[in-house]
Amino acid sequence: MDAQQMEVKAVFLDRDGTIIKDVNYLSKIEDIEILPYVKEGLELLNKCGYKLIVVSNQSGVGRGYFTKDFVYETHAVLNYMLEGLIEKFYFCPHTPEDNCLCRKPKTGMIDEAVKRFRINKKLSYVVGDKESDVELGINAGITPILVTTGYGSDIKEKTKAEAVFNNLYEVAKWICQKGSTE
Ligand SMILES: [Mg+2]
Ligand SMILES: [Zn+2]
Repeated sequence: MDAQQMEVKAVFLDRDGTIIKDVNYLSKIEDIEILPYVKEGLELLNKCGYKLIVVSNQSGVGRGYFTKDFVYETHAVLNYMLEGLIEKFYFCPHTPEDNCLCRKPKTGMIDEAVKRFRINKKLSYVVGDKESDVELGINAGITPILVTTGYGSDIKEKTKAEAVFNNLYEVAKWICQKGSTE
C-alpha cells in the first residue's frame, strides 16, 4: 500500500437521530426529514476531504417491520436529497438476538468500509447520537463524537465521546479545524 492510499480519511455517520429525524423504525419514505445543519455539515466535511459513510442499525428488517429493499430505497432518496454527498450506506438488518458481527457497537460495517476504501482509521471519526455509536468508535479504534440531536442530549453528561456538539455543522467545523493542524 503506498503512502497516498493511507491518506484516505472518513467520517462514519449514524443515520437516525444524526442525519435524519429518528422516528423510531422509519417505514415510510415521506417520513424522511433531514435534521438542521446536516447538509451544511456534510458539505464542509466533504470539502475538507473526508469520505462520508453511513453506518446504521436497521433491526426493523429483522423484526419484519420493513424490507431490505425499503432501506435501499430510503438511502437512494436520502442521498438524492443530499446531492450525493454520501459515498456509501452500510446497514445491519439483524436483531440483537441474531448475534451478527455488524450490529453496532460491533465493528463489521466499519471493517468492511476500511478494507474497501483503504481508510486510515487514525484520521477518521465516528459521529452518532447514541452511546452505542460512541462505543462503535472505541471498538474500531476511531475517535468518537456525540451529537445532541436524536438521543444524544440524554447522555451528554456521561458519554465516553471525545467531544460533544449540538449539530453536525459544529462537528464538521471541529473536525476540519483539527484535521488542518495535524
Ligand atoms: Mg441514532
Ligand atoms: Zn448485523
